[in-house]
Formats: sequence, structure tokens, C-alpha cells
Amino acid sequence: MSIATVNPTTGKTEMIIEPHSGLEVDQRIAEAAAAVHALRRTSFAQRAAWMHAAADILDDQAAGLGELITVEMGKPIAQSVAEVVKSAKAMRFYADNSATFLADAPLDDPTQVGASQAWTRYEPLGVVLAVMPWNYPLWQVIRFAAPALMAGNAGLLKHASNVPQAALFLDTLFERAGFPKGSFRTLLIGGAEVGAVLADARVAAVTLTGSEPAGRSVAAIAGDHVKKAVLELGGSDPFIVMPSADVAAAAATAVRARISNNGQSCIAGKRFIVHDAVYDEFAAAFTAQMAALVVGDPLLPETQVGPLATEPGRQELIELVDDARAAGATILTGGTVPGAPGWFYAPTVIADLPDNARLVQEEAFGPVASLYRARDREDALRIANQTTFGLSSSVWTNDPEDESVFISGLDAGAVFVNGMTVSYQELPFGGIKRSGFGRELAAVGQREFCNLKTIWKA
Ligand code: NDP
Repeated sequence: MSIATVNPTTGKTEMIIEPHSGLEVDQRIAEAAAAVHALRRTSFAQRAAWMHAAADILDDQAAGLGELITVEMGKPIAQSVAEVVKSAKAMRFYADNSATFLADAPLDDPTQVGASQAWTRYEPLGVVLAVMPWNYPLWQVIRFAAPALMAGNAGLLKHASNVPQAALFLDTLFERAGFPKGSFRTLLIGGAEVGAVLADARVAAVTLTGSEPAGRSVAAIAGDHVKKAVLELGGSDPFIVMPSADVAAAAATAVRARISNNGQSCIAGKRFIVHDAVYDEFAAAFTAQMAALVVGDPLLPETQVGPLATEPGRQELIELVDDARAAGATILTGGTVPGAPGWFYAPTVIADLPDNARLVQEEAFGPVASLYRARDREDALRIANQTTFGLSSSVWTNDPEDESVFISGLDAGAVFVNGMTVSYQELPFGGIKRSGFGRELAAVGQREFCNLKTIWKA
């Protein structure tokens, strides 16, 4: 795949970018390795000052960066600008909290281990490779880079090939803010070259957000070289509505949960599992609101759903819906490809899916919602857990027993009660099963790329 900006709204190629040569890649790895040594001599306070300066750059350029994101991957402009602002906020959060998150922790009674003193300390691992996707071209990178750099690591970014302008902006961002040369650099390479970079002795670890095949490949290489890996591989999150819920609020939030980012979010509610007692009411409200969404040019403020980011991505969605239709499912709205240029797909709601439909197991990365009717609580839990993914989940109920059964019974990295899943810098983020392993965000996310060193003193 070439490294290029192809505007998904028009299908027009806006910019083609030359990949880095082997020599350039080697130089960048060398610079990152040198930066690790330079960063070791800096304090939290120094790095925090640089991180604040980088956040200021994002805020100053929020409007232009927002437009760049929309042109490269098609999300509605207000969401692109919000992504820039959210990224800057996370940078300031790590600037202000890393010294606390990574503080030395003394053992209360060192005599228990025969020492005069014993304590633990978090140290940086070194150069961390970040393989990142196009769906949140800034946020996905910053939520790795801000904690990693604050911990004293250096970062190498292999961004998705369809967002090269975002990748080039990030290439210089941290150096412009004052970080030592090489602290964070972009590698303009294809997925096939990631293995060689990860195998390089100067690279200590890898984090990947993207598809299951990409994650499997990268984790296998990391395993071969005994290097730490964190994987975030998407999901097919359940959104459960029980009889005691505020059904109107659940339906309105379900629409937002499904179509945010044009439906291309790993933590989007994708399977809507509704108790029989409120199924008809929910289905009617949800379908009417999905059908009424404004689909169009994502640069226009009134647009709620823009195009899919790539043509293959839309083709995958078309095939999933066609498979469901052929298997006997009911299309309540959508299921069509608009005739205009660009990679649009109509917001779609599908019900009565037979167990053999691909949508029951596979992730729909676009504005396609599946509806499931549950007989009772146990049936809702069974349907929710019948996927190979386990990223997040959302449960709508005002019954304390429902709440407790779902919180402990859902096989997922998170449970949101009476709300949609959102990533917060203060909360750990990540999944189980084929959604991956490890965590991002919060203190635990930052510690993933640290060496927890134990110190014992006689
Ligand atoms: P990919 O997983 O192919 O792309 C994500 C990143 O991984 C990109 O930087 C890509 O580079 C890189 N990559 C791809 N294959 C490899 C490989 N074998 N080794 C190393 N790096 C690799 O995602 P797609 O864009 O193809 O989307 C496909 C599906 O993935 C979606 O439909 C969705 O299900 C899931 N996905 C999940 C995301 C999430 O947020 N969890 C985000 C994006 C996708 P390059 O662009 O050069 O191929």
C-alpha cells in the first residue's frame, strides 16, 4: 500500500509521500536510542515543561489540525477538532501526574526482608515502537506518546499509511516543544517493514492498535525477540438494555455510541442486546434516529456521518451486511451504498441475525448496528459474551441486581453503566480475549513501558 492522503469524501489523491529508505530508518532508530540516554538525564519537571509546550502547539493549531484529520480520514469536523483538544488535555494530564504515578515506593518495614531499606522505582524501558491506526490519527498516538515520553522513553511511530500528514505533524511535534532530538520520530514505512524495526536490538518494546491480523503478527515477532508488547485490537462491544432502563435515553445514546467517528471506533457499541420487554420500544426509537442522521461532507458542520476512511474498509462492511441479508436477517434501515463519490455507507440497523451470520462474530467497522432480542438477563449475558472480542461494554438498567450480575459477568476490559464507553485519561483502557492485552492510559498504562526495579540495601 502506498503512503498517501486519499480524501475519502471525494476519492481524490491529495498527496503521495515517499517512504523512508532503509538508511533513513536506521538513522531514526539511532537518534531514538541516543534520545533515551539524553532523556535519562532530565527531570520530571523538565519533561513536563516540554509536554505542556507540545500541548500548547496542539491547542494553537486545533482548527487546522482538525481539518487535516477530516481530509485524511473523513470524520465530521467537530469530532476532529475535539480529538485535538482531547489529545492536548491528555498531554497536560501526564505532564502534571507522572511524578506521582512513577514515584519510588518504599517497603514499610524493610527488616522483614533483612534490609535497612528496600524500595521500588519505575525506570523507562528505552525505545518503544508504536504501530498506530488511522481512526483517531492524533489521539491514538498521543495516548501512547505522552505517558511514554514523560516516563523517559523515546518513541518511534509507524502510523497507518493513509494518514501520512498526521504522521509528519507528529514527527516534529515533540522536538519543536523542546524534547531532545530523536525523542519521538515517525518512520514512513509499510506494515511489512515493522518486523525488522521491532527485531532491532535498539528497540525495547512495541504497542499496536489495529486489526487482529496485524496484532497477531507483531506480537509473534515481539515474542520471538522477548520484547514487551501491548495490543489494542478492537472489539464488538455489547450495549445491553434492560426493562428498568430509561429506554429513550438508552436509544439516543446508542445512536451516538454507534455512529461516533463514522462508526469506526474500537469501543463503539456494535451489538445492541435488548430485553424482550422493551425491545420493540428501543428498536423503533433507535431505528428512527439512525435513519434520520445527516450523512454527507464531513467538513460541513451539520454532517453527523461522513464517509468510511478507506475503500477496502467500506467493501468489508458491504460484504458483512450482504452476508447477513443472505442469511435471512432483517434490514430495518440502511444497508445501501449511496451513489455519490466518496466511500459513504448508509447508517444501518439489522435485526433477526441467525447465529451463522458473520456479523454475530465479526466487528462492523462502520455505521452498522446489530439488534438482538434477549429473553432474560442470563440470555442477554450469553449473547453479550458470545464473541471472541472483549474490549468494553455498556449496560442500561436501574435494577441493582442486574447491575451487579452484568458488572461481574461481562467478559470485557470495562463496563459502563447507563452510559456509553468513552476513553478517559484517568481510567485504564484495554481488553481481554482477542481484543488484546495490556492497558493504556491512567497510571497502569504508563507503567506498561517501565522497568519496575526493586532495590534492596543491607
Ligand atoms: P490494520 O491493523 O491493518 O492497520 C493498523 C496499523 O497496523 C497500521 O499502521 C498498519 O500499517 C499496521 N499494520 C498492518 N498490518 C501489519 C503487519 N502485518 N505488521 C505490522 N503492522 C501492520 O487496520 P486496517 O486499517 O486494515 O483496518 C482493518 C480492521 O482493523 C478494521 O476494520 C477494524 O476491525 C480494525 N481496526 C481497529 C482499530 C482499533 O481502534 N482497534 C483501528 C483500525 C482498525 P499500514 O497502514 O501501512 O497497513
